[in-house]
Amino acid sequence: MFDKVLIANRGEIALRIHRACREMGIATVAVHSTADADAMHVRLADESVCIGPPPSAKSYLNVPAIIAAAEITGTDAIHPGYGFLSENANFAQIVEEHGFTFIGPRPDHIRMMGDKIVAKQTVRTLGIPCVPGSDGAVESEAEAKRLAADIGYPVLIKASAGGGGRGMKVARDESQLGIALSTARSEAKAAFGDDSVYIEKYLERPRHIEIQVICDGQGGVVHLGERDCSLQRRHQKVLEEAPSPALNTAQRDEIGEIVSDAMRKLGYLGVGTVEFLFENGKFYFIEMNTRVQVEHPVTEAITGVDIVREQIRIAAGSPLSFAQRDVTFEGHAIECRINAENPRTFAPSPGRINDYHPPGGLGVRVDSAVYAGYRIPPYYDSLIGKLIVSGRTRNECLMRLRRALEEYVVGGVESTIPLHLRLIQEPDFVNGDYHIHWLEELIAAQDK
Ligand code: ADP
Repeated sequence: MFDKVLIANRGEIALRIHRACREMGIATVAVHSTADADAMHVRLADESVCIGPPPSAKSYLNVPAIIAAAEITGTDAIHPGYGFLSENANFAQIVEEHGFTFIGPRPDHIRMMGDKIVAKQTVRTLGIPCVPGSDGAVESEAEAKRLAADIGYPVLIKASAGGGGRGMKVARDESQLGIALSTARSEAKAAFGDDSVYIEKYLERPRHIEIQVICDGQGGVVHLGERDCSLQRRHQKVLEEAPSPALNTAQRDEIGEIVSDAMRKLGYLGVGTVEFLFENGKFYFIEMNTRVQVEHPVTEAITGVDIVREQIRIAAGSPLSFAQRDVTFEGHAIECRINAENPRTFAPSPGRINDYHPPGGLGVRVDSAVYAGYRIPPYYDSLIGKLIVSGRTRNECLMRLRRALEEYVVGGVESTIPLHLRLIQEPDFVNGDYHIHWLEELIAAQDK
């Protein structure tokens, strides 16, 4: 096992990784920008190294500075968390070339899944069902028109290098196709430096359901069931739950088996999430994330598996500590992402948190790196914390979640707590009857 791990991230996920390391007897090294000198992840780590000025490009994405920090602290392994360098295959490769272990998949798998066109082509050959669409990149408007006519409108133009919902444009008919194609292309070029795009059938009212996998690269593959992440705004997840109110045990077992089988064939190593749209009882692959995800705690709550601990063990060369038959799903869990944003306009609300009181009690977990007096820097994401609540049934979970949201005090900045309180009391949500556009429709209705 590793003696020392460098955490190449910040915020709640840096803390989450630190906590797993601590429980495993592993020392931690925090890296931070000058804006984060007072951050919790820096305070809790055994050692810390400043790696640059506030902008991420000069600090949390500064590969030479991170490698240097690992060298001078005598680190064994680097954990990238999520975001930042976590899905950067070149970074994973550089880490390994410098003699450190990258806590994540092998660079070739990161690269493969990072290119969504290649990812789709690959998983299809491994038996995973995909959204109908183009086989590869779309070059011209004429080709796009031909393909869209085949697939049937509406269609979605998506960036091959996509992430965070950027570079995605819907065309409802042929007249909208040219503009959708060119805006998706220019957005993709600006965001990712790569303007290749592809076409998919646009599904009107699907759910977003994703399967968590853990693979040791030695034949050990387990899936930890699904998370329903259909509550989104601008293709970004807002609230996640497990299990999905839309799946039964047979459907869960079937898709879990398909995904596990594909991961075994691929020889995948590490944790990963295979994301699907789910409509009319059918699953359609959209992408695979080759890292730990923001919403992993809901799976931990219903399975009892410490996903980050397993991730570290596997990276150190240990086989999985349990088999599929050992995985059981108990109760229900919901995560709310609490952002420093106006709950109606979603305008960012950085600034000083002058009052802070997170909720507690049975079945309540708060993953957060803020504290009273903490100043949310304007340079990074606006996440204040994740509230994860679990209960024996979905109903118990909902009652507890409402209680916990009412208890949560964040003073000095605006937060999305009122939005969560409102949406979990909506009859459709209470009934588990929602899809990926439901939240935006709710917000639009309120704005009228
Ligand atoms: P990103 O990597 O940018 O997050 P994804 O492919 O994971 O992109 O898609 C993000 C979200 O966009 C999905 O959860 C879903 O809400 C929406 N989406 C993606 N593909 C489709 C599609 N074919 N039809 C309808 N919605 C889609």
